[in-house]
Amino acid sequence: MNKIENNVLIIGSGPAGYTAAIYAARANLKPHLVSGLEPGGQLTITTDVENYPGFGDVIQGPWLMEEMKKQALNVGTIFHNDIVTSVDFSRNPFVSKTESGTEFNSKSVIIATGAQARWLNIESENKFKGFGISACATCDGFFFKDQKVIVVGGGNSAVEEALFLTKFASKVILVHRRDQLRAEKILQDRLFNNNKIEVIWNHKVLEFIGYENPYTLTKVILENTKNKIKSTIDTNGAFIAIGHDPATSLFKGKLEMDDENYIITKNDSTQTSVKGVFAAGDVKDKIYRQAVTAAGTGCMAALEAEKYIAESF
Ligand code: NAP
Repeated sequence: MNKIENNVLIIGSGPAGYTAAIYAARANLKPHLVSGLEPGGQLTITTDVENYPGFGDVIQGPWLMEEMKKQALNVGTIFHNDIVTSVDFSRNPFVSKTESGTEFNSKSVIIATGAQARWLNIESENKFKGFGISACATCDGFFFKDQKVIVVGGGNSAVEEALFLTKFASKVILVHRRDQLRAEKILQDRLFNNNKIEVIWNHKVLEFIGYENPYTLTKVILENTKNKIKSTIDTNGAFIAIGHDPATSLFKGKLEMDDENYIITKNDSTQTSVKGVFAAGDVKDKIYRQAVTAAGTGCMAALEAEKYIAESF
């Protein structure tokens, strides 16, 4: 077992984690960052980013994350391509163990594990995941060149995915369970003005149907949420874009969380229910969930960790 004693352990490598690392490193805290399952976080599965300040032209999500990583490394962050599998916050130093067998003994911990895509959780969805069903148009859209695909959801993600898919698909059908989208107006305008996109209102997916050998999605059965009438769409691709769940299972019972499992932090702070443990980004934010707000709270977490260490040790 490789044992590392350190000031700050940062768990997660999205905008929150990297920004915390940049600030902690520049405060000479020599932070260690464990990247997690999806290095770079959610921005690595997006394409165009137009709302991260500082860039006059459109930038790409994966590129932005590479730059953040480079910046964090250049100022002295120690990076671990690893996964934290257990934490003990009952005493300080806090003990975090990783998949590869490293044990961190840390004066403070910054949790920036983000959130992950939500699924519909109907039985047939599991069967065709990766065989026509995806939660990432950026990753899988290319496979549906000149085909008809559906997108499920009515938020920013669903509308962005639908717009992105028009680059490949011949037709994109957005299926939404209500008669109103919750996506931003500017995205809605783009959606309604795109003649490759059709919206089916007030419908939910009942079942995915296809061949089993090899697994191939061929149809989706929908149900009208108002009159319960069923209908079928022929499609080879279904993109589920119905929101996200925070990646907090590791911290269950160890930190206070709300009823949707987001980590609770003090007002205007990233301080969790355990002194010295901070949370930043989507793991504690279900309202804004933007790269720039995640980066902002990552900065706050590092400054708070620095203050905590200076006052406590
Ligand atoms: P969201 O805003 O929570 O929207 C989820 C959508 O999925 C809603 O329309 C919801 O329907 C629908 N839904 C949820 N569960 C469902 C189910 N079981 N079956 C069918 N439909 C279901 O999630 P999001 O679009 O992923 O966005 C999350 C956050 O990230 C938001 O704050 C958003 O603004 C932000 N975001 C921003 C950008 C950007 O700025 N470019 C891009 C992506 C995301 P109802 O409307 O009926 O509840």
